[in-house]
Amino acid sequence: MTNQLKPELISIPVDHIDRGLVSQVAGALLEGKLVAFPTETVYGLGCDAFNEAAISRVFAVKGRPATDPLIVHVADGEMLDRVVDGQLPPVARLLADHFWPGPLTLVLPRNSALPAAVTSGLPSVAVRSPSHPVASAILLECGIPIAAPSANRFGRISPTSAEHVLADLGDGCDVIVDSGRTQRGLESTVVSVDEDGVVVLRHGAIPMEELREHCSVRAVEDEGSHLKASPGHEARHYSPRSPAVAVSPGAFASGSGTLEFTAKLRVLYAGYSDRPPQIPDSWRFEPLGSAGAIDELARNLYESLRRIDAIGADVIVLELAGEAGLGRAIDDRLTRAASSLVVERPEDLQAALTQVLAEDTTP
Ligand code: AMP
Ligand code: MG
Repeated sequence: MTNQLKPELISIPVDHIDRGLVSQVAGALLEGKLVAFPTETVYGLGCDAFNEAAISRVFAVKGRPATDPLIVHVADGEMLDRVVDGQLPPVARLLADHFWPGPLTLVLPRNSALPAAVTSGLPSVAVRSPSHPVASAILLECGIPIAAPSANRFGRISPTSAEHVLADLGDGCDVIVDSGRTQRGLESTVVSVDEDGVVVLRHGAIPMEELREHCSVRAVEDEGSHLKASPGHEARHYSPRSPAVAVSPGAFASGSGTLEFTAKLRVLYAGYSDRPPQIPDSWRFEPLGSAGAIDELARNLYESLRRIDAIGADVIVLELAGEAGLGRAIDDRLTRAASSLVVERPEDLQAALTQVLAEDTTP
C-alpha cells in the first residue's frame, strides 16, 4: 500500500487537459474528498454539494462561519435543475444565456433536496457555471454540482494560484489541481434577481456596466437599509496580516504634509505606478499595478496583496483605484482589506492609524 501524501498535487495545464487526470480528480470528488481547483476567478475548495460530511469539512478547513453560504458550480441544465427550485425567472434565464459559462453568480430559489448547510439555511442558493476549461472538464466528468468557496482561510486574501492554496490550507484539502494562475483574479459578481432586474450583492469580475446592457441593475449599497450585502461579505475580508487603512483615490497626489507621527512606524503605501503619490521619505511605496490597466490590475490584485503582506509593515495604506467597471470590485476588496476604514485626506490619517493600531486583532 502506498502511503499517500496529503494533499495530492495534480498538475493539469490549461493547454493540455489530460482526460485520465480529470477522471482521477472527478473520482476524488465523487468519493467525498475536498478538491481545490482553478476557476477563471480564483481557486475554489470544492466538494460534492450533496455530501453533508464533505460540506461540513469545507467550512471547518476554511474556518468559515456556518452563516456564510457557498456557491454551487454547475456545467449543464441537469445539474442546475438539481440545485434550483423550478424554472429560472426570465431575467435569470437571460443573464445565464449570455454570461454562462462565466464569472456571474445568480442567487435563485433553492431546491429543497440540496443540503441546507450549503446555503446556510437560506431559501436561496448561489449558483454559477465556471468557464475555466479545467473546472468545466472536472464538472462534466463527475456530473454532480460542486459546492466551492474560495480556497483560502476565512477572511484572508483569495488564492489565484495552487501555491497560494497550499500555503493557506496545506493538508486541509485532499487534492490540489494546479493549472497555473487564474485569468480574472477577482471573484464572481453575485446578483439576486427580482422582477425589476438584478441587485449586485457582491461586485466582481463582471462589472455592472456589462450587466446593464441586459437588464436593470442596482447595487446593494445604494438600496438603503432594506437589503443587505451577501451574507459573509464582511466589513473585514481579503485582509493582509498587518493592520491596514484605505485612502481615497489621489488623496496623496499633491503632498501629505509632514505626518511626523509616522516617523517611527514602518508604513507601506500600496498605490499605482501610473499615479505616484507624494508620501513621506520614510514610507515604502509598493505598486498594486497601473490604475489605467484595470484588467491587469484585477488579475494581479491578490498576488500583489500577498506580496505586500509578505513584506509586512506596522501599517499598510491601500489607495483605492477610483475607476469605473472592474474598479468597483477592486475598491470593494481594498476597502474590506482595510476593515472598511477609508480616509479621505492626509490630515485624517493620524486618527485612523491610532484606531487601527489600537484595534489590531490580526490573527
Ligand atoms: P466565496 O465562496 O468566497 O466566493 O464566497 C461566496 C459568497 O457568495 C458568499 O460569501 C456570499 O457572499 C455569496 N452567497 C452565497 N450564497 C448566497 C445566497 N444564498 N444569497 C446571497 N449571497 C450568497
Ligand atoms: Mg472567499
